[in-house]
Amino acid sequence: MKSGETVVIVGAGQAGGELATRLRQQGSEGRIVLAGDEAHLPYQRPPLSKGFLLGKMGRNELHLKPQATYERFSIELKLGARVERIDRDAHEVLFSEGSRLRYDKLVLATGGRARQLSFPGIDTSRLENVFSLRSIADVEAMHGQFVSGRHLVIIGGGYVGLEVAAAATQLGLRVTVIEAAPRILARVTGPEVSSFIEAIHRGHGVDFRQSAGVQGFELDESQRRVRRVKLTHGGGEEAIEADLVLVGIGLIPNTELATQAGLAVDNGIVVDEFARTADPDILAIGDCANQPSSYTGTRVRLESVPNALEHARVAAATLMGKQEPSTATPWFWSEQYDLKLQMVGLSTGYERCVTRGSIENRTFSAFYLKEGRILAADVIGRPADFMAARKMVSSRTPVDAQRLADESVPLGQCAV
Ligand code: FAD
Repeated sequence: MKSGETVVIVGAGQAGGELATRLRQQGSEGRIVLAGDEAHLPYQRPPLSKGFLLGKMGRNELHLKPQATYERFSIELKLGARVERIDRDAHEVLFSEGSRLRYDKLVLATGGRARQLSFPGIDTSRLENVFSLRSIADVEAMHGQFVSGRHLVIIGGGYVGLEVAAAATQLGLRVTVIEAAPRILARVTGPEVSSFIEAIHRGHGVDFRQSAGVQGFELDESQRRVRRVKLTHGGGEEAIEADLVLVGIGLIPNTELATQAGLAVDNGIVVDEFARTADPDILAIGDCANQPSSYTGTRVRLESVPNALEHARVAAATLMGKQEPSTATPWFWSEQYDLKLQMVGLSTGYERCVTRGSIENRTFSAFYLKEGRILAADVIGRPADFMAARKMVSSRTPVDAQRLADESVPLGQCAV
């Protein structure tokens, strides 16, 4: 990036915020503009379903960096500014209020939005007691309504839904989780871990409906609030009373700018290992990008903070004229009640799950094996296992499953 050049980053979230500061830390002397449609400084989203929802963290504690850091780094923040279109011929982005900004390099770090439910004849976006969770604004809309004694129905038993279930029960709400698959977290973890987490939630009073299909909402007289959630379940039909509904059924990547600009989109904006789209002046990073993974050997689109940070690192190198593809192994964490879950690798396609430790004592690791090697691991309350598992997953070390299951054998001595 030369001194007279302008980098425009669209999306002032985890990936965009990290990229802007990294560029300066790496000696970039050009103009850096970080434009985001939210009114906030770049912030971390993980606490939204944890400490921030619980009221234990304030808004300012969410910020990735204080305002002074952006000033010190001469990073121009354009907040509350939505980019509507890219004009590739003119090398300009067009903001919704009508202004234009020229770029030499453009980085799309637009993240994603919560997937919504839709039912014929119901405009779910207008319902006052139906929520989704992606932003500070979403949580602030919930805060006044998450009142002790109310019944919250959560549609979707993924990490976000379950973290909200944990926070809501701690706030005194009654909670029912509805999951379409036969078990919660089915997409990301094995049955052993799913049933362990389900049992923890049940112990806190959370009710579950699994293999359940949501058929619609029954509204009250005002037609603005859901009164019951209608579902098919166990061969029959059920209508669950609801004071509040949280829809946690995944994310839709924000790819519209790329599509409109004629760039390839396939479950995310298609980029190469250096975060570049087919247009060498446009990059894409974070939740919105579909990237080649050295870990899977395929393309993946990941939704996690470690991925956003790693992708920002790769893009910063590319913009500084270096080529540093990612060799990182995906990892993720979740917090529910007093449990800290750490996951490394992607378990899709595993052949065998080996557990180590004590499920009853709530400290165990689940290793997912394929062809005698550790593909992925879920670790609960055993940080040392997680450190070792990261190395073993990354190196695909062949292991002896019996030794792996035996706590008396140090993890480092499980290789064959
Ligand atoms: P984002 O952080 O979403 O930032 C994208 C930004 O771009 C947004 O501000 C968006 O409004 C803006 N934008 C979009 N389009 C435009 C436009 N046209 N013009 C201007 N601005 C635009 N990850 C973990 O690793 N661990 C966790 O425990 C965890 N918990 C989570 C809990 C919740 C409730 C949520 C929502 C996410 C969680 N994640 C977690 C995921 C993690 O937060 C995301 O993977 C990460 O934020 C992705 O960063 P990003 O920069 O790609 O996207």
